[in-house]
Amino acid sequence: MPTLFKDLVAENTHPLNLREGVSESEVESWRPARPPLFELYMRMAEELAKRSTCRRLSVGTVITDAHLENVLAIGYNGNVRGFPNDCDAPTPGACGCIHSEMNALVKAPGRERDKVAFVTASPCVMCAKLIAQARISHVYYREAYRDATGVDILRQAGITAVHYDRWKDEWRG
Ligand SMILES: [Zn+2]
Ligand SMILES: [Zn+2]
Repeated sequence: MPTLFKDLVAENTHPLNLREGVSESEVESWRPARPPLFELYMRMAEELAKRSTCRRLSVGTVITDAHLENVLAIGYNGNVRGFPNDCDAPTPGACGCIHSEMNALVKAPGRERDKVAFVTASPCVMCAKLIAQARISHVYYREAYRDATGVDILRQAGITAVHYDRWKDEWRG
């Protein structure tokens, strides 16, 4: 029996995206009638990115529980609370801003396992390591950052990393 990927993204092997034991014809004719939850959380991350105060790049992050039922933490990149809403320096890669993923991770409860992260850009090396350390099992990213090392590290750590842009232009307006 084939497996149906409810959002039609075959890389998205999260248990909530799979339906087993369906017929071949059902798989062929299936089309989501409403935005997949994965897409909605990604859009939430995109909205959060608008609050970024970094001059280099705007990134947003949403972390949910394993059931995609609760938002556990949010983040966007910028300076420390109480500091000027600006980068410390214009130096690329060393502007002093806290990365979006880090901002979300410091607020996400450590006891929750198999958390899911939605990020508007694929993570850097250090964020990828922190994501793995924080017991996140799945990472969805909208844009692939030019350096793919972060994604490689996620996969090396056994995390499912999905470039999620299949529904980005649907259900708009
Ligand atoms: Zn910055
Ligand atoms: Zn980072």
